[in-house]
Amino acid sequence: MLDVLIIGAGVTGSFIARKLSQYQLSVLLLDKENDVGNVTSNANSAIIHSGYDPLPGTLKAKLNVRGNQMFDDIARELDVHFKRVGSLTVAINDEQMNMLADLVKRSKENGVPASLLTKEEVLRMEPHISKEVKGALLAPTAGVIDPFNLVVHCVENAVDNGVKLHLNEEVIDIKNNSDYFLVKTNKEEYQSKVVINAAGLYSDKIASMIEEIDWKLIPRKGEYFVLDHYDVGLVNHTIFPLPSIKGKGVLVSMTSSNNYIVGPSSEPNDDVDDVSTDSYTLSEIRRQATELVPDIPFNQVIRVFSGNRPTSTRHDFIIESAKSSKFFINVAGIESPGLVSSPAIAEYVFENFISKLFNLVKKENYNPCVKKYHVLNDMDVHSRNEIIAKNPEFGKIVCSCEKISLGEIKELLSRSVPPKTVKGVKRRCRAGFGKCQGGFCSPLVTLILAKHYGLSPLDIKWDKDQSNILVEEVKKL
Ligand SMILES: Cc1cc2nc3c(=O)[nH]c(=O)nc-3n(C[C@H](O)[C@H](O)[C@H](O)COP(=O)(O)OP(=O)(O)OC[C@H]3O[C@@H](n4cnc5c(N)ncnc54)[C@H](O)[C@@H]3O)c2cc1C
Repeated sequence: MLDVLIIGAGVTGSFIARKLSQYQLSVLLLDKENDVGNVTSNANSAIIHSGYDPLPGTLKAKLNVRGNQMFDDIARELDVHFKRVGSLTVAINDEQMNMLADLVKRSKENGVPASLLTKEEVLRMEPHISKEVKGALLAPTAGVIDPFNLVVHCVENAVDNGVKLHLNEEVIDIKNNSDYFLVKTNKEEYQSKVVINAAGLYSDKIASMIEEIDWKLIPRKGEYFVLDHYDVGLVNHTIFPLPSIKGKGVLVSMTSSNNYIVGPSSEPNDDVDDVSTDSYTLSEIRRQATELVPDIPFNQVIRVFSGNRPTSTRHDFIIESAKSSKFFINVAGIESPGLVSSPAIAEYVFENFISKLFNLVKKENYNPCVKKYHVLNDMDVHSRNEIIAKNPEFGKIVCSCEKISLGEIKELLSRSVPPKTVKGVKRRCRAGFGKCQGGFCSPLVTLILAKHYGLSPLDIKWDKDQSNILVEEVKKL
């Protein structure tokens, strides 16, 4: 019998698992995907929002602000690239200037440091912003993070502290047997005292497995451009327009790896698995973004992508126990600012639910820090040469665009949540993230994975099932 079964290894379920790993509980984290953080947590703006925007009094406001405060420690403990670059919310007409004044009020109510800047101050800080700018709201605590390793390292840390992780397991049915839940997946049946539903875009389906629910998810798709990371200095902060009922609007920002990101759109999308992009939406994003930053070098776009927000009819995070059982906890409708809020969501779930359901004992050997590994791009030349002298595989470059070595990829394969797919390698070490988008390194990564797992290269997948890279052998590999 498990103590807690968590459905969904996105950023929400992962932080809950990590929080619970501090205590003597048997915890299972389940995901239907072949990797952690492979759905919404994999496709977002990766902004650690300051918290000036959510309506005061909402869970979104409370958990965004608390989450933001937690990120210096989290980035250090989980060894994730994170920069507090600050955000500027820019007004380009008088009506928007009035709206900025309201946002300053809202920032104060939410307890978020923020100040109004004049046109001259904005242009001094951000010379590429439109000369039409009238002023801006500066929120210095906003930041940018590596969203991929945030989840991977969070789960690795949870697993290293005793949480069990089962991937490729889809929950298909749940029965409430009064003193435990029987959770059925495509592979197994589990008995668990507590179930936490952190299934993102599917959290309504999971919640409905045990009772009728009075909320609905209305997913909204967001599309993006990603630019290469050579044109340093386009913007120094995350640049937002004024927010609207559709969300925070099309932003222009550097990422934690010094690329630039432009987007997202915000359109309803019935098909939660549809992460396509289309030229009409992308050109509209481009139009809106260039109103704020006219000289975005769109000739440096290396990728477009999209993700779906699990927006709910409650317009706030839904974090509550089921009507029929205090042992079933829904953590649903976690749309933006879900990434920044995730550690605070875990804390909230722990304090308001889990701590009241168990007599908890802390683990003496709990370690909040993820095991470190070598990231050569973060090292100086001297340290790099030292590690290459010890192991020449760190000198063999597999991804020329991002300069990722064979040694680094092999090191990932021996970790507690190793990549199984080419995309899994890409998300962890950036091999394939550069200008050629894996054109040169994907075949090499495919061979490395095949050799490590004792598989034929034909069996190695880019990402999900049916995404094999090779279809048949034409000559011996
Ligand atoms: C366009 C866009 C921009 C965003 N920008 C930001 C931002 O800048 N900052 C910010 O803070 N937030 C942002 N967000 C929000 C943030 O990405 C989400 O709030 C967060 O990723 C949600 O995480 P999650 O773990 O709840 O959901 P997910 O990441 O979707 O994880 C849910 C998991 O549940 C699994 N699952 C579902 N059904 C089952 C089942 N039946 N059995 C087993 N597993 C199952 C899924 O496979 C998935 O891995 C953005 C979102 C989008 C879409």
